[in-house]
Amino acid sequence: MDKTISNTIENLKNNGFKVEFFDDVYIAKEKILKEIEINEDIGIGGSMTIYNMNLHKDLINRGNNVFWHWLVNPENRNEERNKAQNASVYLSSTNSITEDGKLINIDGLGNRVASMFYGHDRTFIIAGVNKIAKNSEEAIKRIKEEACPKNAERLDLKTPCRYTGKCNECDSSDRMCRVTVTIEKNPMQGNISIYLINDKLGY
Ligand code: SF4
Repeated sequence: MDKTISNTIENLKNNGFKVEFFDDVYIAKEKILKEIEINEDIGIGGSMTIYNMNLHKDLINRGNNVFWHWLVNPENRNEERNKAQNASVYLSSTNSITEDGKLINIDGLGNRVASMFYGHDRTFIIAGVNKIAKNSEEAIKRIKEEACPKNAERLDLKTPCRYTGKCNECDSSDRMCRVTVTIEKNPMQGNISIYLINDKLGY
């Protein structure tokens, strides 16, 4: 295993997170589906990783109640977010993982980051190794220069990063970077499992 990946896994574990490593996204998906009971309600945060894995479809098809604002009409999104907030299980990716074992995320609304650290019996964070960054500074840089421009394009937001690929700490009304959270260690009473996959997933 690559030294950066093994260091990251070791440091995540030292910080109290459960960590599973997979070479293959399909095996990771099978494991997650096995871990979650069919009678459990699932909330999902905005995540291209989960969307592209079609994990939500597998959960819905086998009978889980899945609450994800990406799957409903705009007028129903807040209600769906509230249901996701109250689900026993929460699924999300992470914008970044630092080599010293922290999770770093930036949100516009904040629902996703809040759910990552509070309010659920179990939280599964699913991420490709492309999300690993050397340190907090590099993590923020990758979020703002890789994820934000792509998200702005996807959501048709008129932010400077969309057009330049650079962050200028904008004051745009469309600004996505409003809540920045570092989860340094698995929170007290937290139950965060990180499924790290040896692939490039999401952005
Ligand atoms: S602060 Fe503005 S320009 Fe910078 S990444 Fe966020 S949305 Fe883009």
